[in-house]
Amino acid sequence: MGLLIYLDGKMLPESEAKVSVFDHGLLYGDGVFEGIRAYHGLVFKLDEHVRRLYRSAATILLKIPIPPEEMALRILETLRANNLRDAYIRVVVTRGKGDLGLDPNKCARATYFIIASRIQLYPPEFYEKGIEIITVPTRRNGVEALNPAIKSLNYLNNILAKIEGLNAGVHEALMLNQEGLVLECTGDNIFLVRGRDLVTPPIYLGVLDGITRQVVLGLADAAGLQPRETPFTRHELFNADEVFMTGTAAEIVAVSKIDGRVIGSGRPGPMTQKLLDRFRELTRKEGTPIHE
Ligand code: PMP
Repeated sequence: MGLLIYLDGKMLPESEAKVSVFDHGLLYGDGVFEGIRAYHGLVFKLDEHVRRLYRSAATILLKIPIPPEEMALRILETLRANNLRDAYIRVVVTRGKGDLGLDPNKCARATYFIIASRIQLYPPEFYEKGIEIITVPTRRNGVEALNPAIKSLNYLNNILAKIEGLNAGVHEALMLNQEGLVLECTGDNIFLVRGRDLVTPPIYLGVLDGITRQVVLGLADAAGLQPRETPFTRHELFNADEVFMTGTAAEIVAVSKIDGRVIGSGRPGPMTQKLLDRFRELTRKEGTPIHE
């Protein structure tokens, strides 16, 4: 049986949930999206995700047809309609149907839809052993061209990097900026632990303002770490005690090797483990209930 999809104000069977071939989300990647997770009946950081969606839309001058409060309610409704308690939720807003030109003014109304489905978990060995990543030649989009803080439907930059990683036999790839500073992975933020410092690149350099990233920065204190948002190069990563990635799907995953250099002990480090334990504790008890 297919899923029920919330599309432009209606709950529709998957087979009927269709968007136009003239939709500018499809023709040009003109739109924004979110990936959200629900854990045993609680949607984790729902308001934060909804707010980021509306910030992304504001920057690209895209008017979402419903207010944020209603979007949050529709997300919960879609989860209930599909009888899901543990889920991955994709919210997409496109510029809508237009003509073959770029002009967004030709699109009368944004298209929006919500997909709630079962979550594809990473294999347990990623968490037990950590994963190997490489730096790829494709640089992250420049802030002054297409700011990575906008979670836009135009993910070709990340997809090219992902392909380069996959071709080299790794599951995630590290992206740098034009100056060679570390930014983020194709679908995850990156952190290093050095002594008592917990370091991640600042948003202004051109990374997504990850929700998991924010939660982890907030957990630093309780883990006895000092959170810092400062630029760094691969050299700092290679010589860190621990490196890990964060994201809604991945949660917190240790990085065991980067470009052939073993990181720390080559196994998930104690701080990474502590942060993951605390993160999972939060996902167990915090969140917006799907059922009142
Ligand atoms: N960076 C990029 C490029 C991403 O696509 C994502 C998540 N999809 C992240 C970082 C992690 O963000 P979050 O913790 O909000 O999932």
